[in-house]
Amino acid sequence: MKFSDFPFDPRILSGLEAARYVHPTPIQAQAIPEILAGRDLIGIAQTGTGKTAAFVLPILQGLAQRPGPGVRALVLAPTRELAEQIHGVIGLLGRDLGVRSAALYGGVKKGPQRAALRQGIEVAVACPGRLLDLHRERVIRLSAVEVVVLDEADRMCDMGFLPDIQRILSLLPGERQTLFFSATIPPVVRRLAAGILRDPVTVEVDPAAPARTVSHAFYPTTEGRKRDLLVALLRGPAQGRVLVFTRTKARAQFLASFLAEQGFPAAAIEGDMPQAERQAALDGFRTGRYSVLVATDVAARGIDVEDITHVINFDMPESVDAYTHRVGRTGRLAKRGEALSLAAPTDKLPRRWVERAVGGPIESRRLPGFNYGGGARVASLPRQADPA
Ligand code: AMP
Repeated sequence: MKFSDFPFDPRILSGLEAARYVHPTPIQAQAIPEILAGRDLIGIAQTGTGKTAAFVLPILQGLAQRPGPGVRALVLAPTRELAEQIHGVIGLLGRDLGVRSAALYGGVKKGPQRAALRQGIEVAVACPGRLLDLHRERVIRLSAVEVVVLDEADRMCDMGFLPDIQRILSLLPGERQTLFFSATIPPVVRRLAAGILRDPVTVEVDPAAPARTVSHAFYPTTEGRKRDLLVALLRGPAQGRVLVFTRTKARAQFLASFLAEQGFPAAAIEGDMPQAERQAALDGFRTGRYSVLVATDVAARGIDVEDITHVINFDMPESVDAYTHRVGRTGRLAKRGEALSLAAPTDKLPRRWVERAVGGPIESRRLPGFNYGGGARVASLPRQADPA
């Protein structure tokens, strides 16, 4: 199937051409016809599956067919990075339609966002807190919203946005289409969905689909040897564009400095860094200035950098869902990726849970030539205390 098989406005088809999207991904092929037909939808899909265009394209089609004033579509996203990415996809695919969108998130000055709203936008891509702020200030009206998208709903719930989301939904017209995207559907997310969707269709991409292009391996070690094992991996089997995860912000910062001292072009990204620094780290990773980015789970949400060759769990994540999210950053769109986990006794996530999630046993590897019993030069590595 091709995008030209869908009844899209020619200006949208030219946007697709500019983006070089020819064939819809599975989530797009399944979701687009349902959304075009006006159905509410639950899309179970993670980043990397093409879920953004799955909702952006039908929204653009609605705007093309029924132009009109006001904010017509609202997309809620957990992080500024994800909001910026969605805004970017709207700009790319909606280029020839002249659709105006704005990314609205906290941590930056409100002036430019207010100015964009005053000039008029059709699509708002917002983090819940900042949207409510702007609404309280009466710089955004939500009475013309016809479609609302909750993107990464599980992440938004994890991050404590549930009350804000409920408040926002109460401000929207009752007569609307609601699209709900989530990588996982834990009970709190299921309850939220049940409360706000009307007779939804569920589309699900094979949860193993992104994982099929990712190979997984454990490198058993000790907390004291993790640092040197990471260096040995980066010098050996894990060369490329590498995303490293730690459990805490302090460990992310420490590790990035340590790797830089060892001669690796490395940067950290974590939630306490000012927005400009986070953006600089991300841009540097995207352009290749940094080949290693050390991230915490929260800061990594929504990172959309192509061709990440390796995801390394320096610390195992707290949950299987977090594992899935982390490794979903590699092996995207049929490219191959590797997920390597440095598993020490201090890491609590049971291995068999991860094996169940990836649908099979995971190989344990020993790095040949690495001194597993080496000196514990770890005094300065911050402890895996409070997760970031
Ligand atoms: P997403 O899951 O929305 O974050 O998309 C993952 C990546 O796939 C992004 O870099 C998109 O630009 C790209 N992408 C999405 N849909 C397609 C498509 N149909 N063909 C090629 N690339 C795509």
